[in-house]
Amino acid sequence: MSARDSSMVKAEAVHKSFGAVDVLKGIDLEVKSGEVFCIVGPSGSGKSTFLRCINHLEKINAGRLYVDGTLVGYREKNGKLYELRDREVAEQRRDIGMVFQRFNLFPHMTALENVAEAPVQVKRVPKSKARERARELLERVGLGDKTDSHPAQLSGGQQQRVAIARALAMDPKLMLFDEPTSALDPELVGEVLDVMRDLARDGMTMIVVTHEMGFAREVGDSLVFMDGGVVVESGAPRDVLGDPQHERTKEFLSKVL
Ligand code: ADP
Ligand code: MG
Repeated sequence: MSARDSSMVKAEAVHKSFGAVDVLKGIDLEVKSGEVFCIVGPSGSGKSTFLRCINHLEKINAGRLYVDGTLVGYREKNGKLYELRDREVAEQRRDIGMVFQRFNLFPHMTALENVAEAPVQVKRVPKSKARERARELLERVGLGDKTDSHPAQLSGGQQQRVAIARALAMDPKLMLFDEPTSALDPELVGEVLDVMRDLARDGMTMIVVTHEMGFAREVGDSLVFMDGGVVVESGAPRDVLGDPQHERTKEFLSKVL
C-alpha cells in the first residue's frame, strides 16, 4: 500500500450540536494521505465546525473521528469512549497545522519570532535551531526579506504567508485551512494560493475550506459540497464543480462561480 492510499482523516457519522442546534448531522468522509481535500458550501453549513472537530477544539456528540488511524480526543475501551487528558489532546494537536481566515499573528513579535515561537515553547527546540528553520520557512513562502518585520508592517497576504510558515514550523502531518484567503484584498489572494499550491506539490495532506473554485479545481484531489450539516455531494473537483448532480450544489455554484 502506498502512503497515498492510507487514510489521514476518517469521519464516521460525525454529529455535533450546540445546545438544541444540530450543526453536523452525520458527516462521513475520508481524506487520504497526501491529498488536497476541498470543502465548499454556504455560510453556516458547518465547515469551520467540522475543521475544529478534527483537532478537538469542538467535541463531537456522536460518531467517530480519526486522524492518522488514531481516535481524536478519546480513547476507546471495551466499547466505551473516555476523553483524553488535556496534555494528550495537546499532543494530538501538535501534528495538525491550522490556518484561519484571520492570521492571528503575535503583533509584538517579528515574522521570524512568530514562526520560531511554538517549536521553542512546545517542542523545546533550541532557540538558534528554531530561528534557523524559521528563516528557511519564511524563504519558502517568499518572505526571506521580511524576517524582521512586525505583522503591522506586512500586507494581509504576507501575514497569511507568515501564518502558514508558523504552522509548518511544527512539522504537521496535516494542514487545515479555513478560508485562508477570504479576508484578503483580491490582489493578494494569488500569492497565498501559490504557497498552498507549492505545499500540495510537496505532498502535504491538506483540508481546505475555500470559495476559490479555480484553486479547488486545479489543485484539489477531492471535493465535498456541504450544506446544512451534511455532505450533499462529493467527488473529483472537476466533476462536482463541472457537473453537479444536486439542486443545492447547482444553486450554490451558480452564486460563487
Ligand atoms: P461555516 O463555517 O460553514 O460557515 P460554521 O461551522 O461556522 O459554518 O457554523 C455552523 C453553524 O453552527 C452556524 O449556524 C453557527 O451559528 C453555529 N455555531 C458555530 N459555532 C457555534 C458555537 N460555539 N455556539 C453556538 N453555535 C455555533
Ligand atoms: Mg466558516
